[in-house]
Amino acid sequence: MTCPLCRSEHHHPFEQSTSFGYPVQYVQCTRCGLVHQAGDAVKAADPAFYQELYRKVYQSNERPISKDLKIQEMRAHHLCSLLPANPVPRVCRSLDIGASAGVLLDAYREFFACDTVGVEPGTAYRKYAAEKGHTMVPTLEDLLAQNPELFQLVSLIHVVEHLENPVDMLRSIHHSLLSPDGLLLIEVPNFYAHDSYELAHLACYTPHTLHQLLRQAGFEVILSKTHGVPRSEKLGLYLLVLAKPVVSAGNPPLEAEKNVKLKRKAAMSWRRLVQKVFPNSTWLPLPQ
Ligand SMILES: [Zn+2]
Repeated sequence: MTCPLCRSEHHHPFEQSTSFGYPVQYVQCTRCGLVHQAGDAVKAADPAFYQELYRKVYQSNERPISKDLKIQEMRAHHLCSLLPANPVPRVCRSLDIGASAGVLLDAYREFFACDTVGVEPGTAYRKYAAEKGHTMVPTLEDLLAQNPELFQLVSLIHVVEHLENPVDMLRSIHHSLLSPDGLLLIEVPNFYAHDSYELAHLACYTPHTLHQLLRQAGFEVILSKTHGVPRSEKLGLYLLVLAKPVVSAGNPPLEAEKNVKLKRKAAMSWRRLVQKVFPNSTWLPLPQ
């Protein structure tokens, strides 16, 4: 697999792990420093994986389960609570890519009284969201083929780490889906706090590499923060960015990240220390 950020094929071994019984091998790109999965047969790069297998492997269930819906609800309210403090334009149309059961779309509809469109490859989840009145399509290609009216808000929540070629996807959002005054909202696991190694996580983003990714795709980051909602008040498990599209001439230079291994090691040592000092309050209870 080539590097999802810079497309280089040069890498060196980073870490070997197992996830859901499958071996997963992570390498580090020698050009940009991104840690990503390696091997020709990266399981999660296969589209069929998301259509049916993903929910079965991760949740032993194809249909939305209440625990998962509750987590999505907590996440959606956190995301929406951040938006009013930032220069969000009047949102008439919102799009959530990787919309799952449509919980974030529910929140968008409530907050902005806007039209809601979702992209979700999982058949059962897509149907579930469509039953709530959201316009749902299985793939981004299907949506682009419809030449839809532009959106003022586009989100990818825990999606980018699953993509083989996120730069191209973000560029097509920039060129064909997002209004010039619109905003892009992205959340991914933070490699400097989250375990990150999972079968379906093709890449492990840090604040640096996530910002580089957005820059390569023609976006300027206007808000960037780490947080633990809804899993922890003490660990910055997730990276959240809000970005706006910019008119750029050509490809901006790519700045490589240095000392990733050292920073990961220090971050995970810090996490272990926090868990040791606050054994009862590092992790928030999961909804049942
Ligand atoms: Zn790279």
